[in-house]
Amino acid sequence: MKPNQAWKTRSLAHVWHPCTQMQDHAGGDAAPIPMLPIASAEGVWLQDFEGRRYLDAIGSWWTNIFGHRHPHVVARLKAQLDRLDHVMLAGFTHAPAVELAERLCALTPPGLNRVSYAGDGSSAVEIALKMSAHYWRNCGQPQKTQFITLENGYHGETLGAMAVDGVDAYRADYAPLLMQAIFVPSPDCYDRPPGASWEDHSRRQFKHMEAALARHAETTAAVILEPLVQGAAGMRMYHPIYLKLLREACDRYHVHLILDEIAVGFGRTGRMFASDWVEPVLDAAGTGTRPFSSDFMCLSKGLTNGTLPLSCVLTTDDVYHAFYDDHASHKAFLHSHSYSGNPLACSAALATLEIFEQEDWMARNHRTAALMWTGMSPLLQHPHVAEIRAQGMILAVEMVANRRSRTPYPPAERRGLRAYRHAMTADQHTGVLLRPLGDVIYLMPPYAVTAEEVGLMCRIAIDSIAHATRD
Ligand SMILES: *Cc1c(COP(=O)(O)O)cnc(C)c1O
Repeated sequence: MKPNQAWKTRSLAHVWHPCTQMQDHAGGDAAPIPMLPIASAEGVWLQDFEGRRYLDAIGSWWTNIFGHRHPHVVARLKAQLDRLDHVMLAGFTHAPAVELAERLCALTPPGLNRVSYAGDGSSAVEIALKMSAHYWRNCGQPQKTQFITLENGYHGETLGAMAVDGVDAYRADYAPLLMQAIFVPSPDCYDRPPGASWEDHSRRQFKHMEAALARHAETTAAVILEPLVQGAAGMRMYHPIYLKLLREACDRYHVHLILDEIAVGFGRTGRMFASDWVEPVLDAAGTGTRPFSSDFMCLSKGLTNGTLPLSCVLTTDDVYHAFYDDHASHKAFLHSHSYSGNPLACSAALATLEIFEQEDWMARNHRTAALMWTGMSPLLQHPHVAEIRAQGMILAVEMVANRRSRTPYPPAERRGLRAYRHAMTADQHTGVLLRPLGDVIYLMPPYAVTAEEVGLMCRIAIDSIAHATRD
């Protein structure tokens, strides 16, 4: 048996793969979704056991921002492993956790001064939700236990995070297990009426949020949303004006603002954080302005450049002090994870932040994003492409049955999957990893991608979309 086939068979015997109908892998090469064993990786490239290479155009689920096995991350991880592997973070501390917290507080918008660590993105969302409700409880408002969230939003798949997910595909089967959140129509600009600008549309959609806050503020702890890009919903995008209006409204209604920057943080949208796109907001007195910031910011994915799971929640001194009291008051935040602040993961994160200083990545990404746009622009008039949208280093192509009416394809046709399969096998020795979100094909490559690699990625993406939309 050839090595790829051998690993595939062994995997299918015991590994239950995430986000997968396992039967899609049955049937060998004719399987609806071919299983791909990966032997090694370097830069933007993955390589299988038989020497075939795949350009990782989605950074392995958006985690890999500087390319695989980046030498600086590898070196720092090895050095850390020789010094300290792990120590519990309750009652103990260590250099990587301290240095990372200092750096994150300096890097994020003003006011976020306290860092709580967890392992994956969903756990960070759980922390933010629990901390917000607990804050209000500690402040004598125990009735504030609800959360407002956006339709099409995505925050992870543990029960608390799923309760605020607005994408039905992930939550429908678990609906009876979930707390009841308040869902508000999204400012997503795919739905804007003809002629309306992104800003107009997002501003207009804010009336739904305003109404929800007016009605539920008394019992609401926080609003949670993904700033600017609703990733899992298919890279749906909206204008930063919405966040500005939301910050001002949250202040007026005494509701926290939780920004889930798990997918868009660390340079993905063209600035360090998506929040950095938002203009200054009115201060509490309504007389001057202050820089935009949130009450809680969740980070993960790119944080360790795809090496180890790590997430964190940043919050304000105000929130921190609401928990700070006598032991007897029972106000402490007792949430914990065994691997909170793991030294190896924190070292990988420090290395990742150091890479940001080695080069002007935002300027480089600006140029790369322009190349991606030019590369994909032949699809602008394609009869089965409703829209190409981009924000920084994210470019998404929405495939539809009818461009003019924007009628989607019947989901059973699995057009996105057709494009995915085609892209994997497009060239003799090279494929492109383009795992779609439904019928949305998107590019979200590591920032280290070269102009030549962008050319290859776009050529194969265009071929694959042409192939997938052929009847
Ligand atoms: C991926 C993601 C999460 C969940 O993170 P996991 O590490 O998969 O648990 C939460 N929010 C957003 C916006 C994400 O993209």
